[in-house]
Amino acid sequence: MAAYDPDNIFAKVLKGEIPCHKLYEDEDTLAFLDIMPRTEGHTLVITKEPAPDLFGITPEGLGKLMAVVQKLAPQIKDAVGADGVLIQQFNGAAAGQTVFHLHVHIVPRKEGEPVRPEGAKMAAPDALAATAEKIRAVL
Ligand code: AMP
Repeated sequence: MAAYDPDNIFAKVLKGEIPCHKLYEDEDTLAFLDIMPRTEGHTLVITKEPAPDLFGITPEGLGKLMAVVQKLAPQIKDAVGADGVLIQQFNGAAAGQTVFHLHVHIVPRKEGEPVRPEGAKMAAPDALAATAEKIRAVL
């Protein structure tokens, strides 16, 4: 299992040291918009438990994380008018993981619309704020 760096970027989001477009929070999880969205509404759901990846969390913790993903994904999909929803989760740099704090991607998909490559483009803050507003209205 990878070591957990308490200063990783999502740990800083959790501590409020870095801002985020928050969509949902409970005792165990936080959901916010990805700043380099692969489609409109691209959301990250992270654990509050300090786990670097899928293998560093208890099955119970993982269950709570996935229950939130299951609840939010269809609501986010509908909020942005998507047709389907891609759920992704990477473990290790070789697998494409860039932030070593367990997180699940919720990527709404519209029929025929391509997904931008990961890290392709930083979204404009006002566009993210408008998307967050739209999603919060249905959660
Ligand atoms: P992964 O490849 O699964 O580790 O994905 C990390 C994701 O975090 C990427 O999609 C980045 O665009 C996203 N990301 C990085 N920094 C931030 C941040 N400060 N706020 C929101 N999303 C971020």
